[in-house]
Formats: sequence, C-alpha cells, structure tokens
Amino acid sequence: MSRQNKAVKTIKCPQCGAPSIWGPENSNRPFCSDRCRLIDLGAWANEEYQIPADKSEDDYSTGLDTEEQQFTPLRH
Ligand SMILES: [Zn+2]
Repeated sequence: MSRQNKAVKTIKCPQCGAPSIWGPENSNRPFCSDRCRLIDLGAWANEEYQIPADKSEDDYSTGLDTEEQQFTPLRH
C-alpha cells in the first residue's frame, strides 16, 4: 500500500522554501510557520520592499523654460 493516507496539499513556503501545509490547519499559510510569516511581515515593515519614490518632480524645473522669457539684448 503505497497510497498516501492523507491528502494534504503542500506548497512551498515563500519565505524558506520548505513544504508548508495548504489547509485550514495551517493558519500561517502560505508560510510553513508563524516564524516565516513574521519574517515576511518584518521585511515589509522595513524599507526592504519600499517602492522607490517618484522623482518626476525634478522634471518641473524644465517646464519653467517653456515660459517665454525672451531675453532681448540691449540694442543701441
Ligand atoms: Zn517557512
């Protein structure tokens, strides 16, 4: 009898790669343990996953140049 007794679906823990049970008994899914879950939460809390700030504000300086500032040289 090589058939598995339990039909437990396991997935790969996104944190450590270990097989974690995908089921109601695993409250930490998709993680294998609460430790891996907390590590992932901590990573989000840190600046590890911080989205780089949009630095498009620097482009506004070029927008001022479109304003017609005709510098007319003094003509005598
Ligand atoms: Zn894990």
